[in-house]
Amino acid sequence: MAKVVYRPLRFKQETQNFGGIMADAANKYSQNVPGKFYVDIQCIDCDACRETARELFTRYDDGGYSYVKKQPETPEEEESCQKALEGCPVDAIGANGDASDQIRA
Ligand code: SF4
Repeated sequence: MAKVVYRPLRFKQETQNFGGIMADAANKYSQNVPGKFYVDIQCIDCDACRETARELFTRYDDGGYSYVKKQPETPEEEESCQKALEGCPVDAIGANGDASDQIRA
């Protein structure tokens, strides 16, 4: 009999097979403040991130999408932003914005 090994699910991509692909810093909206977190063009304006991290995400009304208005500065804000990332249904939130900002600078 085959041995079944259970392991904790660490990434949303392991549990879902629909929606978007991982956020791409090359496709992030210009309204995002520079830094680690950003929203890319996959955003469907569902409001989840704005509910989860109201102090960090806001809506660009003219475009109908969210963007990062403030990068996290405390562990609590970092956790809040990470929760928003994990809760985004289309993987439109990325956490590798620092690297792309450095490349563009
Ligand atoms: S949770 Fe994702 S899809 Fe929903 S508004 Fe935020 S970035 Fe857009």
